[in-house]
Amino acid sequence: MKIGIYPGSFDPITFGHLDIIIRASKLVDQLVIGVLKNISKKTVFTVEERVELVSRVLKDNNLNSNIRVESFDGLLVDFAKEMNASFIVRGLRAITDFDYELQLAQTNHKMAQDIDTIFFTTRLEYSYLSSSTVREIASFGGDIEQFVPESIVKTVYDKYNAIRSV
Ligand code: ADP
Repeated sequence: MKIGIYPGSFDPITFGHLDIIIRASKLVDQLVIGVLKNISKKTVFTVEERVELVSRVLKDNNLNSNIRVESFDGLLVDFAKEMNASFIVRGLRAITDFDYELQLAQTNHKMAQDIDTIFFTTRLEYSYLSSSTVREIASFGGDIEQFVPESIVKTVYDKYNAIRSV
């Protein structure tokens, strides 16, 4: 069975992530979305919230059959081994992603020779899209509907309203 993992912060999940999830899930028997706990990186949504948002989007898109969501911390290759995965899935948006992603893929391959990284190039319409863009727009109350799935729009706004009211 070919198992792939798609790791990321998903803070929050965007249409760019969803596109990679759909395409990658057609290539492997099982895709595990690994939501990073991010001990060093501060996220707006907690890991539990990010897992729930990803799960909600999968459910709404009827994508539950060969995709599951897990959270993880520690080394990516350790998580991949734990999941019996032989592939790590990553997305490439622009040349700026490439340097970092290449280094990451090569380091991971050095640590675990039987795990390969597969890159999906972004669809043109999502090439500019990142979770940080979404967070910035949402923090100013701007329109995020074209960037994240409808089912999570309100939750993202609610989060920023709660942050603003503290
Ligand atoms: P972000 O960079 O949006 O904060 P993550 O850390 O959650 O995202 O990224 C997880 C993976 O998804 C990375 O490989 C990243 O390059 C990829 N990714 C994120 N947004 C897009 C997009 N719009 N198109 C293609 N890949 C993407």
